[in-house]
Amino acid sequence: MTAKKRIVFCDFDGTITVNDNIVAIINHFNPPGWKEIAEKTLAQELSIMDGVGQMFRLLPTSLERDVVEFGITNASIREGFAEFLAYCKEEQIEFYVTSGGIDFFIYPILSQFGIPENHIYCNGSDFSGDQIEITWPNPCDHECSNNCGMCKTTIMRRFPADEYERIIIGDSVTDFEGAKLADTVYSRSYLTTKCRELGIAHTEYETFHDIISSMKSERSHT
Ligand code: MG
Ligand code: ZN
Repeated sequence: MTAKKRIVFCDFDGTITVNDNIVAIINHFNPPGWKEIAEKTLAQELSIMDGVGQMFRLLPTSLERDVVEFGITNASIREGFAEFLAYCKEEQIEFYVTSGGIDFFIYPILSQFGIPENHIYCNGSDFSGDQIEITWPNPCDHECSNNCGMCKTTIMRRFPADEYERIIIGDSVTDFEGAKLADTVYSRSYLTTKCRELGIAHTEYETFHDIISSMKSERSHT
């Protein structure tokens, strides 16, 4: 029997980056009404797709340059991310970014890391109308009714559980469904709280160095 191939599905906002960029952008431009939408989304009263779509629709496209620039410059990368990518390469662990974030900041921020674009899944954006419109090129398949917007479980299902050890790294509401499906969960923040609530085994991390050490010790035990 051959060992399963390890594959990582890594969240972006609040995971690869230190802070949640969607929240930071909306908070910075502070359009009236965004807080209620954000709270309802986090409480899962609104789907992620509805919540994120509605929040960005509060921003006029006349702000495009400022929004894009803020989105790119505001983010800082969590410690150990480059080292983690190198570790994955070395260990032949497949690495995918699965993010509920938006293309206009994700691609520029990740460009320095040499991740192939077809290994980055996120939402799109359309600045052609009066308000910013988020587009959803990676919707839920028929097995997910969560209205994720960018559906992590849909992507995970393309890598069958009998061939892959599916590892998810995340921090918040966009990772809840993926965590239920994954073999291994690395969590921080709300995702940790949620895993406790649902009784899902998880390993907490603060930096990507923590994840590397955990993966290394896991290997040495098996
Ligand atoms: Mg996140
Ligand atoms: Zn979904």
